[in-house]
Amino acid sequence: MPLTHDQQAEIDETRAETRQTLRATSEGMEAHLYRAHPVLDHGFVRVIDYMGDDAAITQAARVSYGRGTKSVQNDEGLIRYLMRHWHSTPFEMCEVKLHVKLPVFVARQWIRHRTANVNEYSARYSILDREFYTPAPEQLAAQSKQNNQGRGTVLEGEEAARVLELLKSGADRAYDSYEAMLDQGDQQGLARELARMALPASIYTQWYWKVDLHNLFHFLRLRADPHAQYEIRVYAEAISACVADWVPLAWGAFEEYRLGGATLSASALDCVRRMLKGEEVTQETSGMSKREWGEFREVIG
Ligand SMILES: Cc1cc2nc3c(=O)[nH]c(=O)nc-3n(C[C@H](O)[C@H](O)[C@H](O)COP(=O)(O)OP(=O)(O)OC[C@H]3O[C@@H](n4cnc5c(N)ncnc54)[C@H](O)[C@@H]3O)c2cc1C
Repeated sequence: MPLTHDQQAEIDETRAETRQTLRATSEGMEAHLYRAHPVLDHGFVRVIDYMGDDAAITQAARVSYGRGTKSVQNDEGLIRYLMRHWHSTPFEMCEVKLHVKLPVFVARQWIRHRTANVNEYSARYSILDREFYTPAPEQLAAQSKQNNQGRGTVLEGEEAARVLELLKSGADRAYDSYEAMLDQGDQQGLARELARMALPASIYTQWYWKVDLHNLFHFLRLRADPHAQYEIRVYAEAISACVADWVPLAWGAFEEYRLGGATLSASALDCVRRMLKGEEVTQETSGMSKREWGEFREVIG
């Protein structure tokens, strides 16, 4: 359970307090506001605030004075056009602020997305909780033989039990040392900013992460992809569910042209054209490397 009773009460209290506003709101996103969506064993994603809705995108594209057209069809057509033609700035008019609790090794991948604003929980100021990510049995997999950057078959039986035990006891021992170093008693204790060196990358951290919709789509395209590591992908999926409710038209366009679409190189496009004319194209005659040919075959099915 990622939230304590007090934390949940605070969320309920915040949700009970409503205000009137002239600003655009999204009914779908209002339903998510402040709620914690559990991710992994102790993590979560919460929407803290947001700005804009689907109409804000078309409004910016048209540089209109008011709310713009009342026609959803017009808005949808324009949003799909913008997405299709990589006209990205109107999507930057929408923003979202998230509160995320995540293991440090996931945070390390996440922070590579530089086009966001971040404020992380200070382990110089505060003491971190004894909370570590332990993979569920179906995620405890061996190194992939094909993909150096991925996992293969799931570990079973004694091997799975041994690895789990090593992960758990290692994390516990590290936390015991952390606590012992901080321990005041009759000693001074080591500063929190140094004692944290003993903690493993599976420990949970938290941050506020604010990003605009264009850069969020970029993040989601990379991290909700099946090739992304499972532990960051599940966060991307939880965020995707919120975005789909927040800006359904933009999300639909994103699914159509980015998630479900593909970019073809000049050589790949040439192959498609030759195939459509009935030519049998092979890797050798494609002008592509083996790897690229494999990826191309995957795209065209
Ligand atoms: C499957 C996968 C595997 C990966 N493996 C590795 C790895 O092994 N090692 C590793 O180090 N990283 C790895 N990464 C991280 C990856 O290289 C990127 O750093 C990360 O995905 C962030 O992408 P980004 O720079 O496009 O995003 P952002 O930082 O959000 O930037 C978005 C866009 O803004 C522009 N931009 C932002 N900052 C600048 C800048 N300073 N100069 C110019 N343009 C800028 C670029 O157009 C960029 O695409 C991996 C990522 C994925 C998804």
